[in-house]
Amino acid sequence: SAKGMGHSNYQAYVVMPEESQRQRLALEEKLRKAERNGELRVYYQPQIDGRTEDIVGMEALIRWENPELGMISPGFFIPLAEQTGLIVDLGLWVLRAACADARRWQARFGLPLRVSVNLSALQLRQGDLVERIGAVLAETGLDPRSLDLEVTESISLKAIPNLLATLQALREIGCRTSIDDFGTGQSSLDYIKRFPADSIKIDQAFVRNIGVDPDDEAIVRATIDMAHNLGRTLVAEGVEVERHVEFLRAHGCDVLQGYLFCRPVPAATFEAMLIERERLFRRIAEPSGAS
Ligand code: C2E
Ligand code: MG
Ligand code: MG
Ligand code: MG
Repeated sequence: SAKGMGHSNYQAYVVMPEESQRQRLALEEKLRKAERNGELRVYYQPQIDGRTEDIVGMEALIRWENPELGMISPGFFIPLAEQTGLIVDLGLWVLRAACADARRWQARFGLPLRVSVNLSALQLRQGDLVERIGAVLAETGLDPRSLDLEVTESISLKAIPNLLATLQALREIGCRTSIDDFGTGQSSLDYIKRFPADSIKIDQAFVRNIGVDPDDEAIVRATIDMAHNLGRTLVAEGVEVERHVEFLRAHGCDVLQGYLFCRPVPAATFEAMLIERERLFRRIAEPSGAS
């Protein structure tokens, strides 16, 4: 009954704080050891050219596979990693793995694959972030033009006074930059104008409502036009159904990403997909009746 539920909720509320504090500390302890224990994974989700539907790159998305807790999604542990400062090391680990994988796949498959890596607010506050990223590029041999750094729109300029200069410095060493989750923060048009980003990633919240809410469709169309008029690329994330693709392609969206094409997958699975793609392309390239 509703009354019974209310009672147990009340009890949970009373018991939670201390218990959750203990759980939080235990989780932090486990997360602290995750890298050393080989529990971190990078999953990859392909990004698709809106015109040709060919793969242009992939977004690196961290996962934590703990023997006791199972597979933990970043929505759960990234906030903890941010609060404890662990995100700085985790972020660097992801960056290294992503650059090394991208470099290897470029060489093996002869594709100009680009890899997108998410940066957290705390990483952006590190005074030596640009040098660190430069060092990872040198160490892995990845061309800076193949690395795209995503910064969420909700990041506050006040909290990171040097954000725009840092992003500009990253572009000066040849990297690409993107505004992630665009439309859900509280950006002004002036902010967009000054934000040194090569591309704008419109948030899934708008993409999801294509075919459902004409107002969201109007926002998607306007954002594509704004991006293009400002000389930026427009990426749509959260592309889940065919009607999203039809709409986005019809309005000139440059890059598509979402479950419709592929969920984020482990590196080995992603590599297997690239092998399959290569085989398919060879077959297509062969003149018909060749064998
Ligand atoms: P994000 O950067 O906006 O990444 C896109 C998220 O949307 C991913 O969730 C992805 O799995 C999910 N997604 C992709 N396509 C679809 C779709 O068609 N439908 C739906 N419903 N979802 C889709 P994920 O992997 O759970 O990551 C969540 C967030 O965690 C990321 O959002 C990003 O903000 C953060 N994150 C992930 N990896 C890292 C990392 O290495 N460093 C940092 N700082 N943050 C990370
Ligand atoms: Mg992202
Ligand atoms: Mg995003
Ligand atoms: Mg998002």
